[in-house]
Parts: sequence; C-alpha cells; structure tokens
Amino acid sequence: MKNLIDSHGRSFRYLRLSVTDKCNFRCTYCLPDGYKSPEVAQDSELSVQEIKSICEGFSLLGFEKVRLTGGEPTIRKDLLGIVRSVAEIKKFQTIALSTNGHNLDRLAKPLREAGITAINVSLDSLDSSQFQSITGSKRFDSVRDGIETALDCGFASIKVNAVLLRDITDLEIPQFFEWVRTRPISVRFIELMKTGKNGNYFKKHHISCGEIQLELRKRGWKVKKRNDLGGPAVEYYHPDYKGTIGLIAPYSEDFCQTCNRLRVSARGNLRLCLFGEEDYSLRKHLIDRNSPVLVASAVRSLIERKPATHYLKEGKYGNTWNLASIGG
Ligand code: SAM
Ligand code: SF4
Repeated sequence: MKNLIDSHGRSFRYLRLSVTDKCNFRCTYCLPDGYKSPEVAQDSELSVQEIKSICEGFSLLGFEKVRLTGGEPTIRKDLLGIVRSVAEIKKFQTIALSTNGHNLDRLAKPLREAGITAINVSLDSLDSSQFQSITGSKRFDSVRDGIETALDCGFASIKVNAVLLRDITDLEIPQFFEWVRTRPISVRFIELMKTGKNGNYFKKHHISCGEIQLELRKRGWKVKKRNDLGGPAVEYYHPDYKGTIGLIAPYSEDFCQTCNRLRVSARGNLRLCLFGEEDYSLRKHLIDRNSPVLVASAVRSLIERKPATHYLKEGKYGNTWNLASIGG
C-alpha cells in the first residue's frame, strides 16, 4: 500500500492511540475536578485485540510510530498485555508511552521489557508542593524516582513534558535547565491550550514559548534538525548539557504545516485533528481477521477530510473538552 498523504501534502506515519480517558490525577488545566464517569453510558474501551487490529491497520498504511496515551494509560490493568501485542507488529520502529509517572518507579522495567521504546513523563514542577497543587497528587518523589529508574532501563528516548503556565512553571525554567545539564532527558515546554473546559484558567495562565526561545538563543542553544517521525516540538541542544529543551507552540503560525500524526480515541474513534469537530468510528470495521485491511482503507478514504489547520487562535477547540478525552 502507498503511504498516507493528505490533500495538503502532509504525510502520516505516527499514530497516537488513547487506551483510556480515565485518570488518577487532577491537573488544574486538564481535569481539575478529577475524572468523572459520563452520565450517558458509553461504549467500552478498546480491548487488547481491538487495539492490536487498529495498530495493524495503521502499520499497513506505513505508520512506523505509535504512542499509547490517555487519560492515564498506566491505570489500565492490561497495559503490559496491550504493549506486548502492539510490539508483535514488527513494522513499528517506536512504541512510545505518555504517562503522568504515578507508578513509573515500579512500571519502568516491565514496560521496557514488554516493548515500550520511548517514554514521555509529565512533570510540571520540580518542587513537591507545587507539583501537588497542580496535579492533586502526593507522588512527586515516586515520579522523580520513576524518571531515574527509566534512565537506567535503556529506553531510546525519555522526555519530560511541562505545561508552560504563567506565574507557575515559568518561575522554574532555570531549575529545569539545570536539571538537563547532567541528564540525557528532553524537557519540553508545552504552551497551554484552550479546551472546552479550561477557558478561565487559560486566560489567567497562558503564555507563549517566545521568551524561552529568546533565552535559549541568548545562551547559545541551537535548533536540532527535525526527525520525520518526531512530534510537534522544536528541539534545542547545547554542548554543555546532556539533555535537550523542546518547545511545543501550537499557537505559532506554521505549527500545523508539519503535522505528521493521527489520533484514535479509547473507544476507537479516529480524530483527524486534535481540535477537530468530528470523530469517525474505526471500531465498526473490527469484525474479523480482515479488520486491519478494513481499518486501513477506512483511514485512507477519510484522510482527505483532514483540515489544513486547527482554529485554536479563533478560540475554537472542536470536540476537545479536555486533553484527557483524546490523549493530547
Ligand atoms: N496522563 C498522561 C500525561 O499526563 O502525560 C497522558 C495524557 S495527557 C492528556 C498528555 C499531555 O497533555 C500531558 O503532557 C499534559 O500535560 C498535556 N496537557 C493536558 N492538557 C493540556 C492543555 N490544556 N494544554 C497543554 N497541554 C496539556
Ligand atoms: Fe491526567 Fe494527564 Fe490530564 Fe493530568 S494531563 S489530568 S495526568 S490526563
């Protein structure tokens, strides 16, 4: 099969698949009141076999990277089984996981053994009480230890995501810089995105990555060449630092031009754009051994509907009430 290219000439090889929309944290910008079960009954989450069939479908389209995300993926009891079954699809170069790090100290090794090659951990503060006030979790030490354990486990890449928040994360930028001096970690600052539920918070705490960018350049950091399978970050390196700094700026002009990813929700719906208006069921194609081929042809026929850009600047966030619902 030919690779997947949309009507704007962008090519897609990176799938972000949510395995659950539930979460055990209460991040102020995402799920400030914690996860609540919806009042209306929903379809069940994808099973291990359904996840495997969907991933096989994408591999038939030339996809080489899959990221398992959520909600918080590690609260799924069968996560290791999911990873093992995705790892059986030999065409993926990278099987990544996004996690809040809650159980990472215990899970890093089994995840690596099951087939995870790259790990992204969210850590918005290097200070335990600030961490608790952002996430509602007391497990700061366990997250920090989990990152250290992951460093010993041989992952090809370890990234730490910090959402850039005015008067909160921005005050700790020097500490984050210091942290990557001695650790081969990529710390990525993500601009806060406005969703259906966080409008007031966004008004109060959104800042652009512009100032960090100026600071990086002033201090001699250089832009790394973008990897085709990479995510949305612009990465900076410096000869005196073991780690790198990445900036994710979804409000910047050219952000959508390099989009190389598609998303599938925990209930098997294809989301062509993170802030898109429509979801398309892939689950309905999961009927027999031919399912991966049916999934691949459904995605191929839907790709022409992928919009050129999101409309975040115009204040439109599509179906995204919070990022836990689709995986960020
Ligand atoms: N629970 C996992 C975690 O926190 O890493 C995976 C899912 S979470 C939705 C994925 C990423 O989205 C995290 O790095 C989180 O900080 C980020 N995120 C959530 N809401 C956001 C928002 N409104 N703006 C920017 N980033 C956000
Ligand atoms: Fe949970 Fe991740 Fe959202 Fe925080 S950002 S509430 S950890 S899904």
